[in-house]
Amino acid sequence: MPEVTLFTKIINREIPADIVYEDDLVCAFRDINPQAPTHILIVPRQPIPTVDDVTEADEPALGRLFTAAARIARKEGISENGYRLIINCRAHGGQEVYHLHMHLLGGRKLGPMLAR
Ligand code: AMP
Repeated sequence: MPEVTLFTKIINREIPADIVYEDDLVCAFRDINPQAPTHILIVPRQPIPTVDDVTEADEPALGRLFTAAARIARKEGISENGYRLIINCRAHGGQEVYHLHMHLLGGRKLGPMLAR
């Protein structure tokens, strides 16, 4: 049995989180350590460890990450000025939680895309 991820525990309400959106395929909640005024994680309900593990069967959930992101961004009032979506993969990508997730960041002008 694969280990239950931190984000699965949040989705199952076993760990508290500020959930802002959920549907049949994804769940979204505020990042515990926000890097911008809006910093929300959008997570497929079915855990996929990393982008490298993605298969065609995951396409509906992965597509939903984007429609959910756009919907949440509008609700957060950051659509007009814009925002950034990030998915980290494994060590060099800076991934900490091995349950694939999309970061939605906005609410201020974000800096250059990569730290040097
Ligand atoms: P990543 O580095 O892409 O794997 O991002 C993991 C993110 O999860 C980080 O931005 C963390 O701040 C966030 N995080 C870790 N634990 C929690 C939690 N319990 N609730 C909400 N966000 C969390």
